Amino acid sequence: MSKVKKIIKTIKIDVDKCNGCRACEMICSSFHANPKYSSSNPARSRIRMVREPLRDIYLPVYAGEYAAAECMGRDKYVIDGREYDECDFCRASCPSRDIFKEPDSGLPLKCDMCEDDPPQEKPLCVQWCINDALIYEEREEEVEEEVKLEDMEIGLEAMVNTYGLQKVIDAVARISRKE
Ligand code: SF4
Ligand code: SF4
Repeated sequence: MSKVKKIIKTIKIDVDKCNGCRACEMICSSFHANPKYSSSNPARSRIRMVREPLRDIYLPVYAGEYAAAECMGRDKYVIDGREYDECDFCRASCPSRDIFKEPDSGLPLKCDMCEDDPPQEKPLCVQWCINDALIYEEREEEVEEEVKLEDMEIGLEAMVNTYGLQKVIDAVARISRKE
């Protein structure tokens, strides 16, 4: 594999500054609505808040990779005296919970850093977090060239894992006969 220069985009999360306002969820779901900004539904957001005011827990978590199966072992974190639930820090769209799934189709959601044309100056959730709990950073690195899966391929992979390859092939054949 050849090496290529790549901009690594990072969002640093300062949990002590987050007050759980959920502006990040609202703008993310709105930015990714079709058409853009036509609706706002936190269930469609690619950032979700773990929000438990009675335990003083406000934890923004970004949607990461799709996981076909849930973990057999779980972790629990205690930080500054606060005990977080199992899976709180996990970014996966996984069968054991409802977050990071498109509510109508069940297809996995993943943060895309607000890729846009022309590009956004900063991801929308960062722009809308007035408490500066989300801090955007960029750096350049040399990395192995990778084959990037398109959104459609990620969705197809999820459907194949859920329903099996043959059912997906049969459904596509049925749809194509109708057109
Ligand atoms: S960076 Fe963009 S896609 Fe990712 S969670 Fe924030 S608003 Fe959503
Ligand atoms: S917008 Fe900022 S302060 Fe509000 S919930 Fe999101 S990360 Fe927390």
